[in-house]
Amino acid sequence: MSLPEVNEVLERLCNLLRMETRAFALKYGLQPVQMEALTYLTQCNRYSDTPQAVGEYLGLTKGTVSQSLKILEQKGLLRKQTDKQDKRIVHLSPTVKGKNLIKHTSADKTLTPSLAKANSKKISELNSVLRSTLIEMQKANQRKAFAACHTCRFNEKNEKGSVCGLTHESLSVQDVQLICREHEYPS
Ligand code: SF4
Repeated sequence: MSLPEVNEVLERLCNLLRMETRAFALKYGLQPVQMEALTYLTQCNRYSDTPQAVGEYLGLTKGTVSQSLKILEQKGLLRKQTDKQDKRIVHLSPTVKGKNLIKHTSADKTLTPSLAKANSKKISELNSVLRSTLIEMQKANQRKAFAACHTCRFNEKNEKGSVCGLTHESLSVQDVQLICREHEYPS
């Protein structure tokens, strides 16, 4: 298969996933962008749950982000909390209703059932190719990685578990699975 053909297949898959997200969002009276913001907030860590990070992750303007967050809050899907140390920072956390909605979406629009038909060696090769393609694209476009904490160059292990080398705070087993706006791949 040629590279343009691979590109075409990936574009088609992305398009299908977007269509599924749009249809699911509409069922709940949401716009796709609001669904995407809520999904991001169920996956990110405590350093990345701000309106600014949502905008960076989704490539949206401040105005669009603020409007989307307002709707999510009005629908009881999201809660805002001021940072205890720095009152200028606002943290966003999905409510139980918001988390349940995203769980439901993930089950509906995932590629997993189709991928499960391939054998594990092929899946592992595919994962590796897609991951390196993603990293190359992020580098070329100078975008933040927003990748899982356990793959970050600042993630340090000690006898008690993991620590963030940037903030020097401990990271739980759950924390290291979450995505982070400060993430950097090892060089
Ligand atoms: S180790 Fe990296 S990804 Fe994890 S919290 Fe620190 S900066 Fe973020």
